[in-house]
Amino acid sequence: MVRYCPLCAKPDSQVEFHGELCVQCAKSRLKPFEPVNAMLCTKCGQLLDRGRNRKDCSLADEVIRLLKLKGTNATFNEAKSFVEYDTPYGRMARPVLVLFEKSMCTVCDRAGSQYFEAVIQLRGDANKVARITGMVVQKLEQKTFVPKIEELKEGIDIYCGSRNEAIAALNAFSFSYVRTEKLAGQRDGKRLYRTTLLVRL
Ligand SMILES: [Zn+2]
Ligand SMILES: [Zn+2]
Repeated sequence: MVRYCPLCAKPDSQVEFHGELCVQCAKSRLKPFEPVNAMLCTKCGQLLDRGRNRKDCSLADEVIRLLKLKGTNATFNEAKSFVEYDTPYGRMARPVLVLFEKSMCTVCDRAGSQYFEAVIQLRGDANKVARITGMVVQKLEQKTFVPKIEELKEGIDIYCGSRNEAIAALNAFSFSYVRTEKLAGQRDGKRLYRTTLLVRL
């Protein structure tokens, strides 16, 4: 017996069906996607969470997550603003509205304010110090910011926005260092320490 789609009256001898409806009509009855909100840092361009911390994922990952399309082989085309994904009716491409909110991430925010938690002091042969400064700064800037680099008679001081990242960078290059903590004042009743990491090359 021939079935007819109740919406377009096409018979199942001509078109594929999904449930009661033909596939075309079933597709067209999908609700449009809700707009997706994404917050971006105006300075570094990275995706941020509500706390203005950088998120470790791409815009595509975020859009797919917010649309709950994980596990559907979803891809997001940013230029055309649509998602493609697998549905019971086959693979579909549908438009999605992404609303961008501009903000500044906590890293860039602090970078503008000369804030720092640690100073890496590189000492030793001038050529070696200069070369290693470049390597260390590049490593640091992947994760945090470097508000100041000071050239001194005895070597180079690299100011660093994050104590943990300063230590991680030195460990990444297997440099040994001498660590000292200096009380740098108080904020919100908490003692603030500044870490000095002395590296002899
Ligand atoms: Zn139909
Ligand atoms: Zn930023």
